[in-house]
Amino acid sequence: MPELPEVETTVRGLARVLDGALIVHAETRRRDLRRPFPVDLVQTLTRATVTGLGRRAKYGLIHTDRERTLVFHLGMSGRWRIDPDELGKHDHLVLETGSGHVLALCDPRRFGSVDLVESAALDQWPPFAALGPEPLGPGLAAQYLRAALAGRAASIKLMLLDQRIVAGLGNIYVCEALFRAKIDPRKAAGLVSLPALKRMVPAIRSVLEEAIAAGGSSLRDYAQPSGELGYFAKQFDVYGREGEACRCGGAVARIVQGGRSTWFCPECQK
Ligand SMILES: [Zn+2]
Repeated sequence: MPELPEVETTVRGLARVLDGALIVHAETRRRDLRRPFPVDLVQTLTRATVTGLGRRAKYGLIHTDRERTLVFHLGMSGRWRIDPDELGKHDHLVLETGSGHVLALCDPRRFGSVDLVESAALDQWPPFAALGPEPLGPGLAAQYLRAALAGRAASIKLMLLDQRIVAGLGNIYVCEALFRAKIDPRKAAGLVSLPALKRMVPAIRSVLEEAIAAGGSSLRDYAQPSGELGYFAKQFDVYGREGEACRCGGAVARIVQGGRSTWFCPECQK
């Protein structure tokens, strides 16, 4: 499932062929993904110029000179294919640029989405309106987390997965960041000390940045029709490693929190 680093990698890959490009052809090859494509999608994109690309949480943003932004979510299985040899049955949205590049949004399970949002009002778009700060942006700071988590009895693990606290963090990266920050995932969020939160912020950033760098290294493959989009294949410290040895000599444990697995080292994370 694409997480924030994969979306960031995707956006960077798209930017190489799409930033500043004129879209000479746009085509939907079915009427919906998780929900219908906007009815005016093709009309809006055709002859539009892409003015920039970006990301918010796990959404990719393609800004256009039509004062509207195409917002995509990759769902469970979505990826963009650049210059595929031929289009497949799962390529549901196809764009062609003035320089001849073809971009196909491929989504076999169709849990993804495509929306057109007024560019000037992106922050008020309902899925974005309640989002917390970007984990790689200046809004995420220890003092912010202290205020946001004050008095919260829920575990720090679940609070970090809450998109209203921090935008775009998924299970893998929360597990890994808590390990790096040496924080017990079961601890009540409101009881995590300020020094621990000060370890948490760089821990979050470093796990994401390393994942983006790993994805970035496979951008070459990304342009291949068969290429997957740079999924983070690094060996994790704790994620998915129940029973294996931590570098401290202890064993990685797995518990279930909020219906999802948490992997952590009870020796290292207090
Ligand atoms: Zn350990």
